[in-house]
Amino acid sequence: MPGKPEESFFMDHSTSSGLYIHIPFCQTKCPYCDFCSITGTGQVADFLAALDQEARLYREQFSAFDSLFLGGGTPSWLTGAQLDQLMNNLRRHFVFAPDSEITLEANPDDLTADKLAHFRDLGINRLSLGVQSFDEAELRFLGRRHTARQTEQALLLIRAAGFTNLGLDLMYGLPGQTLEGWTGTLETALSFAPEHLSCYQLTVADETPLGQRVAAGQLRLPDEETQREFFLLTANFLTARGYLHYEVANFARQGPQAGGLCLYCCRHNLKYWTRTPYLGLGPAAHSFLAGRRWWNISSVAQYCSSLSAGEAPVAGEESLTPEQIRLETLALGFRTREGVSLATLREQPGGDAMVAALTQAGLVRVDGERVIATACGLVVADRLPLGFVGVAGA
Ligand code: SF4
Repeated sequence: MPGKPEESFFMDHSTSSGLYIHIPFCQTKCPYCDFCSITGTGQVADFLAALDQEARLYREQFSAFDSLFLGGGTPSWLTGAQLDQLMNNLRRHFVFAPDSEITLEANPDDLTADKLAHFRDLGINRLSLGVQSFDEAELRFLGRRHTARQTEQALLLIRAAGFTNLGLDLMYGLPGQTLEGWTGTLETALSFAPEHLSCYQLTVADETPLGQRVAAGQLRLPDEETQREFFLLTANFLTARGYLHYEVANFARQGPQAGGLCLYCCRHNLKYWTRTPYLGLGPAAHSFLAGRRWWNISSVAQYCSSLSAGEAPVAGEESLTPEQIRLETLALGFRTREGVSLATLREQPGGDAMVAALTQAGLVRVDGERVIATACGLVVADRLPLGFVGVAGA
C-alpha cells in the first residue's frame, strides 16, 4: 500500500477522524435529486432520538473528531430547538477538537439573521449554501424553492452574521444552458467572494422525475464534449481568479494567510479523498475505519425502527483487499491536487512509460515526487488509474 506523502499539500489534518450527520428532511423534493431525503417533518423527533442511539454505538471506536459536517437533506430546515438537541447529543458522545471545522448545509430560503446567529452560537463556523444557479429560469427548471434574489439576500445576511468560511454549491450542464449563462452565474457568485465553490455537473438518475423526462425524450442533456467545455471553462475561470482547483469539482480561495497551504479546502471532505477515518450517522450515511467500509439503510422509518430495537442500522459492509486499496489510492489521488506519488506509479511494470505517455497527452504533470492531474486530466480523472491497472495486469 502506498504511504502518505511525506509533505501533504493539504493542511495536515489527515490523521483526525471526521463526523458526518445525514439529516434526511426537505421541504420539497427537487426533481433531479436521488439523495436520501423525505418531505415533511413528522419523523424528525424519532430521527433525533435514533441518531442519539446510533452515536452511542460508536463512541468507543470514534472518540474524537476535528470536523463535523451536517448534511442532507436540508439541515437548515431544522428548528433551533432541534439543532440544539442534535448538537448537545453529539457533544455528549464525542470530543471535538477546539479548532474543529463545523459545516452546515443550508438552503438560501431558510436563512434569517436570527437563525444565522443561532448557528454561530452552536459553534457552526462554515456554511455550505445550495445556490445551484443565479439564473431564475434555471432555478425553476431545477425545482428549487429559492430565487436568485433570495440567494443574494441570504449571502448578505451570512456575511453580516460574521461567517468567514462560506462555500457555494453551483450546477452546470443544464439542458439549454450556455457557456455565457454559466459564466454569469460564476461572476455573480464571485461578487460575494466565497471562500469555497463546488461546481457540479448535473447528473440525472433514471428513477427521478427529471430522469424520466430524459428517458421519454422530452429533455436532452448536453453531450460529453459540451460537458467538457463547461468543465474547462469553470477550471480556467476560477483558477484565473485565485481559486485553487483542489479536487475535480472543488475550488478554494487562496488567501495570503494560507501560506501556500489549502486554508479553505473543506477539511471534512478531504478525509474522503485521503482515506482518513470518518463516521457517518443517519440514513444512507457511509463510514470508513481501518480498511473497512460500511453504510446505513436508506429508509428513514427503518433506520429509526432498527435503532429503537437496539440494532445498528447497517445495510452492508466491505473490507478492502490490498489490491482494492492500491487502486482506490490511485483513483482518489488523481482526483485531487495532492496527486499520486511518482514512486508508487513507478512500482508498476511499465509505470514510467505510462507517466510519460499521460504527461505527453497533457493529462498529468510531474511536480517533484507527485504526479498530478491537469485540468484536462481531471475531466477523465476516473479513467486515469486504468492505464496503470492495465499496465500492472499486463
Ligand atoms: S434540497 Fe437538496 S437534498 Fe433536498 S431534494 Fe433538493 S437537492 Fe435533494
